[in-house]
Amino acid sequence: MDTAFDHSQPEARQLPGSTVPEPAPKPVLVGLGIVKTYGTTVALGGANLAIRSGESVAVMGPSGSGKTTLLHCLSGILAPDSGEILLDDAVSRVRVDGLDVEQRAQLRRERFGFVFQQGLLLPELTALENAALPLMLAGVGRREAEQQARGWLARLGLAGADERRLGQMSGGQVQRVAIARSQVTGAGVTFADEPTGALDQRTSAEVLEALLASTVGRGHTLVMVTHDEKVAARCARTVRLEDGQVVWDSNPLRPVLDGVA
Ligand code: ADP
Ligand code: MG
Repeated sequence: MDTAFDHSQPEARQLPGSTVPEPAPKPVLVGLGIVKTYGTTVALGGANLAIRSGESVAVMGPSGSGKTTLLHCLSGILAPDSGEILLDDAVSRVRVDGLDVEQRAQLRRERFGFVFQQGLLLPELTALENAALPLMLAGVGRREAEQQARGWLARLGLAGADERRLGQMSGGQVQRVAIARSQVTGAGVTFADEPTGALDQRTSAEVLEALLASTVGRGHTLVMVTHDEKVAARCARTVRLEDGQVVWDSNPLRPVLDGVA
């Protein structure tokens, strides 16, 4: 078993010889009472979740339990009907639920990385163009963007594949391009929705290790939806959703907004 990536973080610990407990680590992302409905379907019924900085969190639960909706609300893809979402990262504190469509789009571009099971990548573009796209959308010039993207592709074992179109690449290679693209802007929090769901076991394990190394391996945070227990076991923490609520948490952190307006 590879122990190079043990991302577990202890909860508040006692210093030797001290009676004062260390403060619990500061959450980078807090969702409090998130409600999201589609017509009469309650996708999230007041979900609570606080995520530590540098933590890898596996979000599990049955199909339809609200995993994707939770990810989309926390990351500003969707606006919740009610509830509060706070991002408190190295850049600033932001009430995500208070942002309009444009502001959420900007937040996603600048602060978050995304890896999905499939889609989002453009098959007619090369690996390099796909990986460079978020930087170009952020206004970085093509030369600079492609230089950064080239570095990420090489780091992910895709050196020499820069000019290949995604249609010519294997599922595992395509997901590595997706990881490169998610990291190229230096996002501190990465959201992944079943990133290995379409891959065979061995490729899944390789892509997962690449994703962990690229995110928590560099001190960043990973929030990943998965239905695969083996994938979840590689994360420091697992939470389970049922009927739009977090019903189980392997390492709970109380979701508080800490006086943020
Ligand atoms: P999971 O990712 O756990 O499978 P989802 O968050 O995708 O769950 O869905 C939660 C619930 O919301 C399900 O009942 C689903 O059918 C419903 N739902 C999700 N997205 C939509 C949508 N765009 N329109 C209508 N219902 C939706
Ligand atoms: Mg889903």
